[in-house]
Amino acid sequence: MKTIKDFDLNSKRVLIRVDFNVPIKDGVIKDDNRIKESLKTINYAIDNNAKVILFSHLGRVKEEADLAKNDLLPVSKRLSELLGKEVKFVNKTRGPELEEAINNMNNGDVILVQNTRYEDLDGKRESGNDPDLGKYWASLGDIYINDAFGTSHRAHASNVGIATHIPCGIGFLIQKELDNMLPVINNPIHPFTVILGGSKVSDKIGVIENLVDKCDYLLIGGGMAYTFMKARGDEIGKSLCEDEYLDFAKKMLDKNIILPIDNVVSDSLESETCHVTDTIGPDEMGLDIGPKTIELFKNYISKSKTIVWNGPVGVFENKLYQNGTKSICEMFNPTEQTIIIGGGDSASAVINLGYKDRVTHISTGGGASLELLEGKDLPGISIIGE
Ligand code: AMP
Repeated sequence: MKTIKDFDLNSKRVLIRVDFNVPIKDGVIKDDNRIKESLKTINYAIDNNAKVILFSHLGRVKEEADLAKNDLLPVSKRLSELLGKEVKFVNKTRGPELEEAINNMNNGDVILVQNTRYEDLDGKRESGNDPDLGKYWASLGDIYINDAFGTSHRAHASNVGIATHIPCGIGFLIQKELDNMLPVINNPIHPFTVILGGSKVSDKIGVIENLVDKCDYLLIGGGMAYTFMKARGDEIGKSLCEDEYLDFAKKMLDKNIILPIDNVVSDSLESETCHVTDTIGPDEMGLDIGPKTIELFKNYISKSKTIVWNGPVGVFENKLYQNGTKSICEMFNPTEQTIIIGGGDSASAVINLGYKDRVTHISTGGGASLELLEGKDLPGISIIGE
């Protein structure tokens, strides 16, 4: 697959799709990590004398009021600080102002185009991959680089649309994601353990189906475990359960699935007390894995060479229910194991609980990493070609 390094960027208008979908409150960026993750590709293009034109989405734009909330202006200011050079912000997604700004660029200049999803307001042109929009954006550049892993599982005008029309490649961020994740999915070193958690079985069915026969052990915790435990015949009280997946869960019980044997329970999520139990009472709900389960999971995790983890095994946002997720982080040994963390909540859990250095790779894309784990092609990447 072509990467940014395969192109002569000198004097070229290089369109880069980045992921600047950062949390912003009252115009203040709450976490600039995603901007920082994009710097390597942007700096490479600047250092190679490109005219750098950046596209990103921010939030969702469904109605007029969403425009101001999802303005990329604060991002251009932060990017300018991080790059140590001026970033010209064009408050338009098309038209003469944007075209003129691009025509006036010198080599090494950087433009950030307004939020691509402003085009969603009237007919979902960006998210629906409107062919005219993709063609128009492509006409503004000579080369297209996709470096937004987090949106690569969706075909949008700003990825698939542009890539259809001009020479294209991937940036360093996507390259790192693929280099870390593909070998693990396609050719893992055994023993290979998959840990799944989070709230819903329904979100993880594709991953279970794709990986259950490829991995040696599939450890299930979190809210999704209770559907499997009910299928096994356990009393689960008021714990999360998706009854429509009980048949699926029953079928999976014959496979290499390891379920919790004790739980931290409470009578409600709001309650300030909790206790550990092997048997959940009718008025109780399971909110974390218990100490016996931690030991059980440790037996498998400690002997594994490859580990993929998606979804926290408890309500880690609440201190009372962090122990399971924390204990799993502590079992990792990145010098001897390859440990891949899917994006989304498991990524924030590992980072916020302070275990970033205990793992090999933390994916920047929740939905995109989940679809890779499901064995699916990501349209924003497959359009780049072999
Ligand atoms: P997901 O986005 O499906 O990976 O789910 C992540 C969410 O699952 C987190 O916000 C956790 O608080 C939640 N979660 C984890 N364990 C449980 C549980 N036992 N009961 C309810 N929610 C849970």
